[in-house]
Amino acid sequence: MDTKGNYYDLVVKRLAERGVKLSDIEELVYFLQKDYTHPLTHEKMEDAIKNVLSKREVQNAILTGIQLDVLAEEKKLDEPIQSMMVKDESLYGVDEILTFSIINLYGSISFTNYGYVDRLKPGILKWLNDPSTGHINVFLDDLIGAVAASAAARLAHDNPALEHHTSK
Ligand code: MG
Repeated sequence: MDTKGNYYDLVVKRLAERGVKLSDIEELVYFLQKDYTHPLTHEKMEDAIKNVLSKREVQNAILTGIQLDVLAEEKKLDEPIQSMMVKDESLYGVDEILTFSIINLYGSISFTNYGYVDRLKPGILKWLNDPSTGHINVFLDDLIGAVAASAAARLAHDNPALEHHTSK
């Protein structure tokens, strides 16, 4: 895949700095898609994730979200945003809105997938939402859920004959 001329490598680096590996995202994709794609191989999931992370809209959303999380962690944001980020106020909502720039690219299956992992918070999403880690991941948890939801949707679109999450 041609990842030159965009921020793919930078995004992977920033994600790693925030404790998220591509294999963590792959775990979420497996969780979402294991009953619907056969066989669901490592290669297929990795390819789908890399495709999602190669889109500029996705990269922009991730880089923006991580930047805000980091600035909040460094207490560099103005009020009232700083306090809202520290408390991860559920009424803030801008974190979810930013993820729409990702899931809008992958249609209704991606949207349903996102809601599903956002509710259950499997794998890395649980860690990202754990305040005892000392990190602020207001944006990153939603962005990772959206990337996994979109990668799973890509795989679902490759298997149009199979049932998938739209009926959930
Ligand atoms: Mg959030």
